[in-house]
Amino acid sequence: MDTIKKVAEIIKEKKNVVAFTGAGISVESGIPTFRGAQGLWERYDPDEYAHISSFNRNPEKVWMMLREMAQVIFEAKPSAAHEALSELEKMGYLRAVITQNVDGLHHLAGNKNVIEYHGNHRWLVCPLCRGKTPFTKDVLSIFPYPRCETCQRALKPDVVFFGENIPIEAMIRANEEAKNCNVMFIIGTSGVVYPAAEIPYISKSHGAIIVEFNVERTPFTNSITDYFFAGSASSFLPEIVKMLR
Ligand code: NAD
Repeated sequence: MDTIKKVAEIIKEKKNVVAFTGAGISVESGIPTFRGAQGLWERYDPDEYAHISSFNRNPEKVWMMLREMAQVIFEAKPSAAHEALSELEKMGYLRAVITQNVDGLHHLAGNKNVIEYHGNHRWLVCPLCRGKTPFTKDVLSIFPYPRCETCQRALKPDVVFFGENIPIEAMIRANEEAKNCNVMFIIGTSGVVYPAAEIPYISKSHGAIIVEFNVERTPFTNSITDYFFAGSASSFLPEIVKMLR
């Protein structure tokens, strides 16, 4: 409790918080993490199914997983931790969310300045002409997979697969926010997916205070984290909001 109070005081004084989020913040929304190997990841190995070479080789096979992933995402609702971040933005403390998640839940919670470093599963993109269309529920009944109306190529969710580059605009915006924040929250990420995992180190090297929320320790915890909250993000973030009211 004392540490929460201390962090709330720091936020009140310094403002200008940026949150860097990962799959852990969406666990209580019903979306399993890759590394927990729960839910659909028991049946689909992400290293195989989330790799662009698998998609290029066999889009029909990868679309079996994508349909299930989309169903999970369509059913998910923002967690208490997502809601707390939205509240912090409205209160003027949080400047941006940089997320590795592709579930769109930060937008649904009401955050306005969201950088989706790995894209958004609620959109489809043509790998050839780059045309985008919304990934709606009707797409789930298109077999073997949806195609681009112009090029006839298999559409893919507008997300960064393993083996693909980060969209340059997201990278530039994320680096700017990381450099300029006074406090960085690291929430529910294992910190092993690069280049995303570099972001908190950028903040640290520019003098930010690092506050981490995770059910387990990560490579950040013993290297750059100043305050570590061990447990679910949904149990701490609403408390911080309460203290700032
Ligand atoms: P990860 O699976 O590597 O790690 C998840 C982290 O969340 C772990 O460190 C775990 O201890 C922590 N965690 C679990 N429950 C938590 C809780 N309630 N509160 C706080 N922390 C909790 O996820 P990652 O670091 O985001 O990297 C994996 C990649 O997986 C990302 O690039 C992302 O695109 C993708 N992914 C996204 C989603 C999603 O959009 N929701 C889901 C699965 C995977």
